[in-house]
Amino acid sequence: MSEVKVPFYGHVRQYHNLKEDIDKAIVSVLESGKYTMGPAMTKFEGELVQYTGMKHAIGLNSGTDALWLALLALGVGEGDEVITTSNTFFATAEAIWLVGATPVFVDCEADTRNIDVTKIEEKITPKTKAIIPVHLYGQPANMPVVWDIAKKHNLFVIEDCAQAFGARGDTFKLGEKSDALCTSFITAKNLGTFGDGGAVFVNRDELVEPILRGRNHGSIARSKHSVGWNSRLDDIHAAILSVKLKHIDEFNDARIKWAKLYDKELAGTKINLPYAKPGYRHVYHLYVIETPGRDDLQKFLEDNGIIALTNYPIAIHEQEGFPFSNSQGLAYKVPGITSEGDPKPYLPETEKNSANCLTLPIYPELTEDEVKYVASKVLEWEKGPGAKYFA
Ligand SMILES: *Cc1c(COP(=O)(O)O)cnc(C)c1O
Repeated sequence: MSEVKVPFYGHVRQYHNLKEDIDKAIVSVLESGKYTMGPAMTKFEGELVQYTGMKHAIGLNSGTDALWLALLALGVGEGDEVITTSNTFFATAEAIWLVGATPVFVDCEADTRNIDVTKIEEKITPKTKAIIPVHLYGQPANMPVVWDIAKKHNLFVIEDCAQAFGARGDTFKLGEKSDALCTSFITAKNLGTFGDGGAVFVNRDELVEPILRGRNHGSIARSKHSVGWNSRLDDIHAAILSVKLKHIDEFNDARIKWAKLYDKELAGTKINLPYAKPGYRHVYHLYVIETPGRDDLQKFLEDNGIIALTNYPIAIHEQEGFPFSNSQGLAYKVPGITSEGDPKPYLPETEKNSANCLTLPIYPELTEDEVKYVASKVLEWEKGPGAKYFA
C-alpha cells in the first residue's frame, strides 16, 4: 500500500483545530471530580434541547442504546414487528431484535437510498408496531409520508438520525414527525466525541421517565431501582460534545461544500453520484457513489493513497449473524439458502446499493486540493482500468 494522502476520517485534524477548547473541557471535568451523570452531561443536554428545539434530550452511551431504549419506552417488544430498511448500519435492526421484536425490511429508493415510502404499507401486518426510518448518509427520509402512514395504521415512528445531526427536511424538522429521534455521537458521526455517546430526543413527556430509568439501572431517585440498564453518557464526552456542538452548523456547511465540489468535479461521469432532494439540508455524513467494479475502484484509489470504504457492502438481511424470518413466512435471501432456488433479489434496490456502493472521504477538515485529487483519480479509473465496466 502506498502512503496515505487522503485519509478516510478527519477527527484528528478536528481535534487539532479545536485542541485548546477541547483540552480545557476535558481538564475541567477531570478537576471537577464528577464523571458520570454530572453537570457536564446536564449542561450538554440543555444545549441539545436549545439546538434541536425538542422538548427533552437524554444523553446516553450510544446510538444503539438510543434506538433500543426508545423502542422499550414505547412498549415495543416480543411478537411485534418493526418496519425499517436493510441498507443501514447493523445497529438499526439490532435494536429491534434486542427488544424481542422482528425487523421487517422495506426496500430503499433508487435515488436517495432512504426508505421507499411507497412500499411501506404492503409490509404492515396486525403485528406491526412501529416504523424506523433512517436518515441515511445525512439526508432526511420522507417523514411527512412516513408519519401519515403511521397515523393511519396506529404505529409509532422512531427516527434513526445517527447520520444526520443538524439535517432538515424541506417542510419539516427532524423530531417533528415521530415519537422519538435517536442519534449517535461516536467519533465519525457529524457531531462526534472521542469515544461513544448517543441521545434520544422526545417531545412527549411520558416517554422521558422510562428512558431515564433505562439509562441508569432503573433509578430516578437515589437507591430506588426498577430493572434498567447502564447507558450513561460520560461527562468527559458531554464536555467534548459541548465544544463541538458550537461548530456543528459550520462542520455541516463544510461537508456540504465538499459534496458540491465532488459533484462538480465528477459531473459527466457514468458513476452514480449521491442525490440530494431539493429543499432538504443533506448534511453528508457520507458521500456514497455507486459503480460497477466497486472493489476495483476502491483498490485503485488505495493504490493512489486514497482511503475509500464501503457503507454498507452487506445488507442486513444478508448478514449471516441475523435471525432470518418474519411473520409473512418469507425467508430473507441469505447466501446458500434461497439464492440458488430463487434468484430474485429480496430487496432489489438495497442489493444493488450494497453491491455497488463506495464512500469517498468526506469531513469538514478536507482541503479543496484533496477533494479535487480524489475526484481526478475516480475519473482516471473510469476512463482507464474501469472503462470495461461501462462498455
Ligand atoms: C452509527 C449508527 C448507529 C449506532 O450508533 P452507535 O453509537 O455506534 O451505537 C445506528 N444507526 C445508524 C444509521 C448509524 O449510522
